[in-house]
Amino acid sequence: MTTLVWLRDDLRLTDNAALSAAAEDPDGIVVLYLLDEVSEHIRPLGGAAKWWLHHSLHSLQQSLTHFGIPLVLRSGAAEEVIPAVVTECAADRVFWNRRYGPAREHDAKLKAVLRQSGVAAHSYPGDVLFEPWTVTSQSGEPYQVYSAFWRTCTSGRDPAVPLSVPKHLKSSQNLAKSESLDEWRLTPSAPDWATGIASRWQPGESAAQQKLEEFLETRAQRYSRRDFPSEDTGSELSPYLRWGEISPRQVWHRTLRTGGDVGLFLGEIGWREFAKHTEFHLGPLHKRNLNSRFDAFPWRLKTDEAFVAWKSGRTGFGIVDAGMQELWQTGFMHNRVRMITASLLTKNLGFDWRLGEAWFWETLVDADEASNPFNWQWVAGCGADAAPYFRIFNPDLQQKKFDADGAYVGKWAPYSLTLPKIIDLKSTRTHALQAYHGLAR
Ligand code: FAD
Repeated sequence: MTTLVWLRDDLRLTDNAALSAAAEDPDGIVVLYLLDEVSEHIRPLGGAAKWWLHHSLHSLQQSLTHFGIPLVLRSGAAEEVIPAVVTECAADRVFWNRRYGPAREHDAKLKAVLRQSGVAAHSYPGDVLFEPWTVTSQSGEPYQVYSAFWRTCTSGRDPAVPLSVPKHLKSSQNLAKSESLDEWRLTPSAPDWATGIASRWQPGESAAQQKLEEFLETRAQRYSRRDFPSEDTGSELSPYLRWGEISPRQVWHRTLRTGGDVGLFLGEIGWREFAKHTEFHLGPLHKRNLNSRFDAFPWRLKTDEAFVAWKSGRTGFGIVDAGMQELWQTGFMHNRVRMITASLLTKNLGFDWRLGEAWFWETLVDADEASNPFNWQWVAGCGADAAPYFRIFNPDLQQKKFDADGAYVGKWAPYSLTLPKIIDLKSTRTHALQAYHGLAR
């Protein structure tokens, strides 16, 4: 017997249900990561995400080496590569952790094909606290409002207790051939994303655990100040959660063990969960407005100098320019600043949210197929339980309130203070509201 474990957004050894189940195979396992850049249902990774993936896989390779297990790297479409690897290593079982986006249908087909050919294919719970079909309203419908969703999630049951690293991890004698991580060229040199990103981040499972511990020991007590971008009170766990170097169940249980006032922080994990469940119920979120009333909204669809000024942090609005610089230089942006930059782009500058979403997708190390479009739609007003359209952030007031001493703007975009502002906030706001009121009810 050989069991093939197919890893995807779960690049860790702890709390990995598929890996734990596979480890029970006395004849050993083969561990595979598949880079699929050809299937239409897989959204191609952005540059910053690729950088993260490269280092995450490198870290995983090192962890598996302790157990004498090579990480098999292959590229191509799953429906072709998985059966080929199954044959190469004579596997009779294939295990993976579930995904809840558009990949789900394809996973189900693959499972059926493998089973027809006599291979036992099994999937296990993926990167959520609760599987989406288990959280519904009393009438059995999916929730559309976060507060009701989260109340149900948090009343009564606990997410599954995380699993330890399997005791008996052993390589199969039957190996499959592997491509080389360096040949995948996931770390581009032009532009050199790696310089700024690498000085801020260390991908990998043990770095994820350290990040959580460090957050709980220090910044968690000041988490209520999370809206102030220069105070660094966020956990910075989002890329680790995105790549599954830590699971939300691990974050949940470890956080509750420390005690204290952790409700706000876990509530944010709840927003991540809500985005995943919404994607499961409503399909891919980055293409269509969740509120179809916005299909007629007169957004600007073509990028021009104003878009380039936004993207490169040259709008003359200090907090927006600082956020866009933080993003470009480190692959990350503070949450409140994400909201302010997205609001300026979609409401004052009037661009389609999909253009901004695509830029974040390219540049965020935590770019997530559910959270990114979900939040863009939330800010733009067309999403699930979205901010009301008339809530248009005023970046000057936001800066006064959340960066009063100018520490954040001074760090990332001191030059912005001398730039002319590219638009007049008042007239663009009026224009946006007129466009909104012009939509049919
Ligand atoms: P913390 O405040 O420490 O929160 C803990 C965890 O909760 C985060 O790591 C994250 O996993 C989750 N979380 C927090 N806020 C949200 C939220 N609003 N929606 C979903 N999950 C949340 N988050 C991503 O993980 N990937 C994205 O691609 C992404 N794109 C965004 C785009 C826009 C326009 C906006 C407004 C928000 C976006 N977010 C995204 C949500 C949020 O900004 C980040 O999760 C957060 O800034 C990460 O910092 P942190 O880990 O310190 O968060």
